[in-house]
Amino acid sequence: MKIICIGRNYTEHINELANEKPTDPVVFMKPDSAILLKNFPFVIPAFSDDIHYEVEVLVKINKVGKHIEPQFAHKYYDEIGLGIDFTARDVQQKCKEKGLPWEKAKAFDGSAVLGEFYPKSEFKDINNIHFSLLKNGQMVQKGNSGEMLWKIDELISYVSQFFTLKIGDIIFTGTPAGVGKVASKDELIGILEDKEAFRIVVK
Ligand code: ZN
Repeated sequence: MKIICIGRNYTEHINELANEKPTDPVVFMKPDSAILLKNFPFVIPAFSDDIHYEVEVLVKINKVGKHIEPQFAHKYYDEIGLGIDFTARDVQQKCKEKGLPWEKAKAFDGSAVLGEFYPKSEFKDINNIHFSLLKNGQMVQKGNSGEMLWKIDELISYVSQFFTLKIGDIIFTGTPAGVGKVASKDELIGILEDKEAFRIVVK
């Protein structure tokens, strides 16, 4: 399986990192080795002093597809989840300055937190899903899928122009504002609508 991630999909987050608003979705990938094993802590890697959490809505692909039209994209997933795209912001900043790829900052071991997935039928409207991230009991990020610059079905259509989507692939749909640094002993809890989708400890 592969993990396809979208960057800069919420206006306020683009502004907080002083990024340019993209004309097309920003796309990058994480390998399956990036997945944080269930019930394991996230260990801050030695190569970074500035690991950021980014809470994101996840979509799990359930059908093989290529060149998917937006109006048919809803047939390619039936589960929605919540996760974290851990980012080594200091490493990413260096990559950006030099125009280099982001993998070292985004695709390292443990950088993809996959919380619980829930049937799509449990959500009234895919484009109105509330989610938030609590750090040590305080809400640090909150968003709504309705605020995405490119909505879930548009993202599926867009990325399928480049990559064949396969069963089990996961799309990280971008993070809202409020990203920040994690420290040892932090506890992160992801809330999707009213459900606790994940709870992880930082080491
Ligand atoms: Zn992200």
